[in-house]
Amino acid sequence: MSPCRECGMPPSDGRTCRDLLMELLAMESESRELQSLHYYNVATYNIQHPSAFDPEAYAIMRAAFIEAVDGGWNAHDARRELKRRLAPFDGPRKVLRPEADRVVVPRAWSRTIADAVRRSDPAATAAQVKEWAKSVRMELS
Ligand SMILES: [Zn+2]
Repeated sequence: MSPCRECGMPPSDGRTCRDLLMELLAMESESRELQSLHYYNVATYNIQHPSAFDPEAYAIMRAAFIEAVDGGWNAHDARRELKRRLAPFDGPRKVLRPEADRVVVPRAWSRTIADAVRRSDPAATAAQVKEWAKSVRMELS
């Protein structure tokens, strides 16, 4: 297994960054705190994987993420606001880019989802998700 071409995360115990995202989302059901961070769990991951998104939708997601982290928005409000801003992509135009049109631009990040997910420890994971989100925000210029 090689590192993720997009976020640069090396495989962690045979798990990819996508596997860790699925693990993180599964952990939400065990932890209210993690559940309350849902927007940050998903948005931080998405920001590090832009190729999956329509470039205009990604620009909206990126701007909203910066505002959410800087403004300390709670995940509920951040999610609602993002949904509102992405409304133009509810029709024929989609947030996700067709697989064939995706172009990966490798980028080195200080933190990836591997730094956030602490197996069987939702409280530590929640604390690390906040650090991961802040770190990613700082690296978006
Ligand atoms: Zn990745």
